[in-house]
Amino acid sequence: MAREIAIHMRGGVITERDPQYCTIRTRIPAGVISPRMLRGLADIAEKYQAPHLHLTTRQTLEIPGMDPGKLGEIAAALDGNGTPIGSERDEVVNVTACPGISRCIFANIDSISLAREIDSRLFGREMPVKIRISISACPNACTSPLLNEIGIVGRIAPVRTPGVCTGCGTCVEYCKEGAISIKKGVSVLDPSRCMQCGTCIRSCPFNLLKSAGEHYLISIGGRRGRHPRVGRELVAVRTPKAVVDIVEFIVQWVYRRAWSGRLLSEQLEDIQFERLRDEIREKVAPSDLYEGN
Ligand code: SF4
Ligand code: SF4
Ligand code: SF4
Repeated sequence: MAREIAIHMRGGVITERDPQYCTIRTRIPAGVISPRMLRGLADIAEKYQAPHLHLTTRQTLEIPGMDPGKLGEIAAALDGNGTPIGSERDEVVNVTACPGISRCIFANIDSISLAREIDSRLFGREMPVKIRISISACPNACTSPLLNEIGIVGRIAPVRTPGVCTGCGTCVEYCKEGAISIKKGVSVLDPSRCMQCGTCIRSCPFNLLKSAGEHYLISIGGRRGRHPRVGRELVAVRTPKAVVDIVEFIVQWVYRRAWSGRLLSEQLEDIQFERLRDEIREKVAPSDLYEGN
């Protein structure tokens, strides 16, 4: 029974309204689960008489109606299935990500691999505040990264090769931001309106728009819930390794400086946002920093 109590005290096991039951939330980074693991979860849910499975907003599956007295054997079964007990307390919780470059035509980065790497380094780390991390592979931001404590967006800045544009206007039609116009027979980009989605690059029938290289915009301090808030842009970098290192640095920074009982979004000044940004910029190799707009 001591083992059951210890498991119940961890994040990822939630006492229900009827306290003789608990809900177990699983750890599924980026919400990606194999058919075999999904069948395994269904088998575990059936074996322990769950009324159903529940898809969560953080791309995990949770199993309600579990008997707290059987937590030890259920935890072992979930471990064996590759879908261990997850988290939901003040800790690094399930990392979410959109499908990314392997499937989405708009994607600029491999969001799922990045989510898995961040998960492997940081998942479940106990924190003074809950840390939700979300990744979107383009500025369409399908997973709402700017509304998470740490958000990552994959972007590409377009570069037009001077003198070769035919002025066909295709890129103008594709740009949803009105950032491109045709002047004197050639396309002209307004950087102040460009979201760096990369769509125009893929649209040019003459392949005249080039990529300045993909990069990752990292924001912190967003949140959903009662008082939603958009996170503040922190830094942009060029490699997934730099992203993972920076996210780990942010987590350590917040661990040392944030107060418990308040959301991260309410204490960005207290944790010295500007100093955090300066230290990250000093720490990152200059070749990894993206200095565009
Ligand atoms: S955020 Fe962009 S890349 Fe990701 S699923 Fe949405 S449209 Fe596709
Ligand atoms: S990158 Fe996106 S927002 Fe920027 S000009 Fe191209 S289509 Fe428009
Ligand atoms: S789609 Fe290409 S060729 Fe046509 S206006 Fe745009 S940059 Fe020029």
